[in-house]
Amino acid sequence: VGPREGKATARDKAPASLNAVFSPGADDGDELAALAPRNAVDAARAIDAVFEGPLPVEHTLAVIKPGTADEHRAEIMREIRAHGFTIAAQRRARLSKEQVESFYEEHRGKFFFDRLTSYIASGPVIAMVLAKPGAIKSWRSLMGPTNTFKARTDAPSSLRARFGIDGTRNATHGS
Ligand code: ATP
Ligand code: MG
Repeated sequence: VGPREGKATARDKAPASLNAVFSPGADDGDELAALAPRNAVDAARAIDAVFEGPLPVEHTLAVIKPGTADEHRAEIMREIRAHGFTIAAQRRARLSKEQVESFYEEHRGKFFFDRLTSYIASGPVIAMVLAKPGAIKSWRSLMGPTNTFKARTDAPSSLRARFGIDGTRNATHGS
């Protein structure tokens, strides 16, 4: 954003800044192109003044599963951003079988539990925190149905339809 005194100071001190390049006036004291808050308190006050009430930003955990993480990471992250999510945090990780078993604890005892946990532990995943209003529902909808083949028929543009391989290797996780 650059100095807030005006275009003259901005040009002098930060010639590449928004205020140096885009301010409509020519002198200090004239209209500025942009204003940035000085600190978090100012920022919170400014947000409250423009938007009524708290912004309903929601966070959701997204994981790109092994294989897909190496092959299609860039395309999937592009798609995520194109759907208006902010990627608030991102981490590449390799999880042990024990870590995956506790992550998918709710499925322990089911017939696909061993297949699922061996697969997720088989290679690096990309874990992300996605943020936007309604993030949880919106991410599940972008992923598509759990089963890759059902995704291909019912939601052909979804991530699981496009990048899933079979019933277990379904590209992404959401929670
Ligand atoms: P996830 O929890 O990975 O986001 P989900 O919530 O859509 O997926 P769950 O029912 O929680 O679906 O199943 C967890 C994962 O277990 C699925 O994503 C898939 O990889 C695997 N899975 C689920 N059902 C089956 C099945 N019938 N056969 C093989 N694998 C399955
Ligand atoms: Mg699940």
